[in-house]
Amino acid sequence: MSMPSDTPKTSSYQPPSIAGNAEALSPRQREWVGVAEELGRTRFAPRAALHDREASFPMENFDDLRQAGLLALCVPEANGGLDGDFASYALVVAELGRHCGATALSFNMHASACMGAGFIADALDMSAAQRREHERHRAEHFEHIVRDGKLYAQPFSEGGAAAAGKAAWSTLAQKVDGGYIINGRKIFASLSGSADFYGVLCTLDKPGATQRDTLYLAVPADAPGLSIAGEWDPLGMRGTVSRNLLLHDVFVPDGARLLPEGLYHQASKRYPYMFATLSPTYMGIAQAAFDFTVMYLRAELPGMTPVKRRMYPTKQAAVAEMRIKLEQTRALFLQSVREARFDPDEGARQRLYAAHFTVMENANAICTLALRTCGGQAMLRSLPLERLYRDSRCGSLMLPWTAELCMDRLGRECLYDDAERDEFIE
Ligand SMILES: Cc1cc2nc3c(=O)[nH]c(=O)nc-3n(C[C@H](O)[C@H](O)[C@H](O)COP(=O)(O)OP(=O)(O)OC[C@H]3O[C@@H](n4cnc5c(N)ncnc54)[C@H](O)[C@@H]3O)c2cc1C
Repeated sequence: MSMPSDTPKTSSYQPPSIAGNAEALSPRQREWVGVAEELGRTRFAPRAALHDREASFPMENFDDLRQAGLLALCVPEANGGLDGDFASYALVVAELGRHCGATALSFNMHASACMGAGFIADALDMSAAQRREHERHRAEHFEHIVRDGKLYAQPFSEGGAAAAGKAAWSTLAQKVDGGYIINGRKIFASLSGSADFYGVLCTLDKPGATQRDTLYLAVPADAPGLSIAGEWDPLGMRGTVSRNLLLHDVFVPDGARLLPEGLYHQASKRYPYMFATLSPTYMGIAQAAFDFTVMYLRAELPGMTPVKRRMYPTKQAAVAEMRIKLEQTRALFLQSVREARFDPDEGARQRLYAAHFTVMENANAICTLALRTCGGQAMLRSLPLERLYRDSRCGSLMLPWTAELCMDRLGRECLYDDAERDEFIE
């Protein structure tokens, strides 16, 4: 190692743009990503360690996002929002993920509710009456966001097969006059205790109900019968505060529907990109681990002992390997983000599984390489790498597209046409 001089010099390292070539962004995307970068670097990154240590929700970050107008990123223009599409969403969240994974992942939950009721709903087949009713309902929800800066969460998971897309939700919504009565239990409700509305998936309570009878309902945080329970002391993504949500005879009015009855199922079949909304956060984490490594080896990282480590061929080879992995990940990520569309053909759908899998797995692989390359002092809690490493581990555990289930779907869909089946042979 070279000898310490004094404190680290100001870094001349220019981290690559999360979008690869920033020129490829539209002027509005450049502006939104720029705001996310500025907030992330100057405010969210300095706050990240404390929220991670305390496992507390970074509400100040959401105050900043609210003030910057980004809570309305995916709200349609007609409803006073910024009208961001899937690619804009993904680029902004990847940038946030670079500075605070928990903020990015929580923002994903909020933005997903906006996308579901917004541009995803716009492309779905529904009757004129359903469309009119949906316009009325979503106008209320979007007003909560645009005018009042409210936060939406999306607790779908229940710990059973439903979140993997293999069964109906066990949370039930019974139709009553003017609304629904909801009963059930959700696990891993990110933003628990901090969201203003919880967008829950439940099954319409009727004989023989299946996944087709899924309802997407926004439950106000102060609805009688809603409570939050359970410990939250996880390995990573600690700032998401993803505790359990208990729903006991909770009444919500018809206007709670974020999508008309029966249409969530159509959305899930026709717009698989809605399941890939989790990966942009981890693209940001992968980039952050790479940036950390370069600055650490150059001894330019605030808070480190100013010892250069970049002159060893093993370090240079490891950084090259990391950069190649990062660019491979980014290439697939950007391609799938930019080709997001309704009713993707087989090729685009399979590429999306591959992209999601690659981002989730490579984020952790890049963090692992970063730790091995930077060495022991780099894993101290005074530096962000060990948090990136722990956060990165969470991505491929997230349903419905865990790493395993992506492989499962990809393998099957490569080998079978939609209706094809084989006799099972032992
Ligand atoms: C930090 C964090 C935040 C989260 N926030 C949210 C949130 O806000 N909202 C939300 O809805 N969820 C959230 N989740 C939950 C997440 O999406 C998963 O539901 C959860 O991690 C699943 O955990 P489990 O132990 O219940 O998985 P299990 O259901 O026990 O599955 C374990 C593994 O088995 C495999 N598997 C599961 N089912 C099948 C099947 N039918 N066929 C084949 N293989 C299968 C999968 O690979 C899966 O990873 C969050 C998770 C984390 C880690």
